[in-house]
Amino acid sequence: MGLEKVALIGSGNWGSVIANIIGKNVQLHPGFDHEVKMWVFEEIINGQKLTDIINETHENTKYLPGFKLSSNLKAVPDLLEAAHDATVLVFVIPHQFVKGVCNQLKGRILPNAKAISLVKGVDVDETGLHPITQIISENLNISVSSLSGANIANEIAKENFSETTVGYHIREEGELFKHLLETPYFRVGIIEDVIGVELCGALKNVIAIAAGIIDGLKLGENAKAAVIRIGLLEMKKFAQTFYAGVKDETFFESCGIADVITSSYGGRNRRVAEAFVTTQKPFEQLEKELLAGQKLQGTLTAREINSVLRRKGLENE
Ligand code: NAD
Ligand code: 13P
Ligand code: CA
Repeated sequence: MGLEKVALIGSGNWGSVIANIIGKNVQLHPGFDHEVKMWVFEEIINGQKLTDIINETHENTKYLPGFKLSSNLKAVPDLLEAAHDATVLVFVIPHQFVKGVCNQLKGRILPNAKAISLVKGVDVDETGLHPITQIISENLNISVSSLSGANIANEIAKENFSETTVGYHIREEGELFKHLLETPYFRVGIIEDVIGVELCGALKNVIAIAAGIIDGLKLGENAKAAVIRIGLLEMKKFAQTFYAGVKDETFFESCGIADVITSSYGGRNRRVAEAFVTTQKPFEQLEKELLAGQKLQGTLTAREINSVLRRKGLENE
């Protein structure tokens, strides 16, 4: 068996944190190539390319300022160059960009590659709901696991303790991803439920928007706890209505209850939704004003989920 070669597809706030963990872990554990490529959606920051800044200073000054990245991470602006020789692809981009990226990668990656999606979102088109892992696996014809959890990126960058959940179809792949991603401060649980783990990650963003609205309206902690409790039950009902195989236990892993709590108290969706109430500015404007290029996922997901429910006549559920 040759060495596993890892490439990251994405380099935002969470992407940079996870890239740093991977960059360190491939050097600590046998079986991995030490060079890790990270695809960066190129942009110019104060006249300099973001890829050059990352490669020269080992810091993603736009999306993760103040933290040094592992020096074996190579920022690459060309998607195909980043991915073509990887045996392990780590997708960590905002969900609205996944289809475009998959279209470019189709037929251009190693046939034995495997992937994991850290994306929190779903895809919805005229034919209905499509989990991100399914978009990746159908386009690229590879096996795809999922990762989601109570994981506010900046806290993990500081190496504060947290847990996460990997959903796998193939147990060996779940174990490989645990090996690749776990650290003493970032504990990885694995469960055979790819769709359940990723749907938790997508749906909790909608609950976090609701929690932010509660905060904006100053309705207090009891109301927020109610939104969290009812929201978790609705997440479970939605997931199991569309995917009967989604397990009850998944909602008690980090990707379930824990992520609903952390996002409802500390996330970007919560913060922007609170500002939506207090400033009455549109979400698109607040996303630009408050997030410095980072992307909001919950508003798009709310609309996508609502359109699926409406089409099925399930809105009142
Ligand atoms: P981010 O929101 O910090 O950054 C946005 C990223 O999108 C940047 O890397 C930017 O270069 C890229 N981008 C902008 N336009 C693009 C385009 N047209 N095509 C491709 N890429 C483009 O990103 P993030 O925080 O790494 O989020 C990625 C995923 O991880 C999201 O689904 C998010 O919900 C999830 N997530 C985030 C956190 C967190 O705390 N930040 C934690 C867990 C999961
Ligand atoms: P936000 O995108 O709302 O910041 O949530 C981050 C996250 O997914 C925490 O687990
Ligand atoms: Ca069950």
